[in-house]
Parts: sequence; C-alpha cells; structure tokens
Amino acid sequence: KKYGSPAPTIFSKILDKSIPADIIYEDNKCLAFRDISPQAPVHFLVIPRTPIPRISEAHDDDAPLLGHLLIVARKLAKKEGLSEGYRLVINDGKHGAQSVYHLHLHVLGGRQMQWPPG
Ligand code: 5GP
Repeated sequence: KKYGSPAPTIFSKILDKSIPADIIYEDNKCLAFRDISPQAPVHFLVIPRTPIPRISEAHDDDAPLLGHLLIVARKLAKKEGLSEGYRLVINDGKHGAQSVYHLHLHVLGGRQMQWPPG
C-alpha cells in the first residue's frame, strides 16, 4: 500500500457522490467543493481523487498531482472573483489541526486575512 492510513473519510463519499456537496469543479484528478463551515465569504476545498491521507504522507511522485491542485486552486480563485488575494492552507496532522484525513487544499478569500494564524 502506498499510503499509511487509507481509512475512508467523508471526502471519499463526496468523491463518489454518495453524499452531496456544493461541487464547483471536477476533473479526472481532483474535485473542488465549498466548505460546509465556511471561514470566509469564499471557502472551498480542492482534493485529489487519490486518497492521500495527509501532505506528510505524499510521495515524491505525487508532485504533478500536488502541482495540479495548486493550479486548479489558482484558476478557481480567479473564477470566484478573489482578485484582491486569498489564502491557501493545508493542515497536517494533530498540530496542524487537520480533522479530515484525506488531503485537501483550503482556498479562503473575500475578506482581509490576518497573519500569523492562531
Ligand atoms: P481540516 O481541519 O481537516 O483541514 O479541514 C476539514 C474541513 O472540511 C473543515 O473546514 C470542515 O468544515 C470541512 N468539512 C468537514 N466535513 C465536511 C462535509 O461533509 N462537507 C463539506 N463540504 N465540508 C466538510
């Protein structure tokens, strides 16, 4: 097995459409949908179809897929009107406050962000 803990998550169900989500984009490698608990006026997630549990478990040969997620995020941010900027976040593990163990890229925008995060 390529990844350590490939337990199915709620995102597997969103990917196979067995539970609904507000899907804004999909292609053969990824899916993007609005976060159920938005932390900004625009808050969506970009996830790979491959169930990589977390960024720390990604492999060197996942680089094209990881790059694709960033490019999709950039295109969707433009489409969502985030011309003033936005934030991309990947939470990893306990200290990163990850709650769903299927890799996802958060895209947040539509308001002024602060730095550093809490
Ligand atoms: P994490 O803390 O793992 O980086 O973020 C997980 C995100 O997934 C959270 O922002 C949470 O609101 C979102 N989320 C969890 N369950 C669901 C769901 O069933 N549907 C959608 N659309 N988002 C979800």
